[in-house]
Amino acid sequence: MFYTKEQRNIIDMLFPGMPEYHRVLDSIGDFCERDILPGAKSVDQEGLFPKENLLRTAGKGIFGLPFPREYGGGNYPFPVYIAALEMLAKACANTALHVSIQGMICEGIRLFGSDTQKTRFLKEEGLAEGRRLIAFALTEPCCGSDVRAIRMKAVRSKEGYILNGSKMLITNAGEAEFSLVFAKADKGISAFLVSSRARGFQVMKTIPKLGFRGNQLSAIRLEDCLVPEEDLLGDEGKGLEYAKQILNSGRMTIAAIGVGIAQAAFAKSVFYSKKREAFGEKIANFQLVQEKISDMATAISAARLMTCHAAYLKFRGEDAALQASQAKLFSSEMSQKVCDQAIQIHGGYGYTDAHDVHRHWRDARLLTIGEGTSDMLRLLIAHLALKEG
Ligand SMILES: Cc1cc2nc3c(=O)[nH]c(=O)nc-3n(C[C@H](O)[C@H](O)[C@H](O)COP(=O)(O)OP(=O)(O)OC[C@H]3O[C@@H](n4cnc5c(N)ncnc54)[C@H](O)[C@@H]3O)c2cc1C
Repeated sequence: MFYTKEQRNIIDMLFPGMPEYHRVLDSIGDFCERDILPGAKSVDQEGLFPKENLLRTAGKGIFGLPFPREYGGGNYPFPVYIAALEMLAKACANTALHVSIQGMICEGIRLFGSDTQKTRFLKEEGLAEGRRLIAFALTEPCCGSDVRAIRMKAVRSKEGYILNGSKMLITNAGEAEFSLVFAKADKGISAFLVSSRARGFQVMKTIPKLGFRGNQLSAIRLEDCLVPEEDLLGDEGKGLEYAKQILNSGRMTIAAIGVGIAQAAFAKSVFYSKKREAFGEKIANFQLVQEKISDMATAISAARLMTCHAAYLKFRGEDAALQASQAKLFSSEMSQKVCDQAIQIHGGYGYTDAHDVHRHWRDARLLTIGEGTSDMLRLLIAHLALKEG
């Protein structure tokens, strides 16, 4: 069963008497197992952008799960979306990552966009449903964690804003029809919805990397790129505030991806440990292997609960900045550790391509870096905890 008993119990705890949520998640679980999982290894090995998977995922309604019906969404509570993303990541992390990035940007448009922008981008352009893709362009060659230091400029002209500068390490910029670009305008950092077809918008060549090989990473260069005034998201100068909110939502989805990846590595480890023999015994009988299995299972459950807690606070409209950061920090580090233990349980074969275990470790490695490194999250968590205390 792809939709696990523990996930079911959590949804029951949060939303008692809602069998519809189980029906939807059961059906998404079947879809992930049947339609997404079989191609996941080749997406990684061949470095294929999972376009077909994304189309199917959009068709299944997963992109749109948390968004209002008027924008083509399913209007489901955020924890239901989180449970779906976990299953998608368990099947294919490459597919889940793009759904996660798209979801956080759409949430930003929902929260801060004008009514016209919401109708145009979320509904007509099909971003909420995932019919078209959008990239998130914040990081620059000079700076990632130190967001305030970005150098891209947005100068106001008669026709709109003229953007100049470079973005770095941007996921799927070449595949997306739009990017949410952050740049410094007169009143401070601002966010712009920029079409990839805009004159002066150039995606540079793909950057090879360790994991998430199905998602292309590139730099973007904007040279005198004209962005109409109506494509400024919200108000000029509020880009940093928006980025924080957008990333709070993104961090919950990254935490869910961490759980999904770990769950995939864990399932392979349990299966292998029951088959592989050493010293005349199944290796699952050795207590040192059992210790790993026990630690892995416990850490996955803890991360899942933290992630669902943050998602539930968001669903209730509460400030979940602290819980989102905690869930992302814990889940991403947990995922890395669990995948490392999975390689260990597979012995030498875990290091080879044969058992497709190191894919999970390579994918998990990104999660402690993107959308706030573990160091930056520790600083933020300490700041928020000290303030609350
Ligand atoms: C595969 C991949 C996909 C990505 N996708 C996107 C994307 O789609 N859009 C996007 O905008 N960005 C994306 N990024 C960029 C990512 O968000 C940044 O790499 C990340 O925010 C860190 O920034 P940096 O790489 O510039 O590291 P730096 O900020 O230079 O940090 C380097 C190291 O110093 C540490 N450090 C920095 N400041 C402090 C401090 N004050 N205290 C303690 N330690 C500190 C960091 O934790 C880190 O370990 C992606 C990155 C990767 C690898």
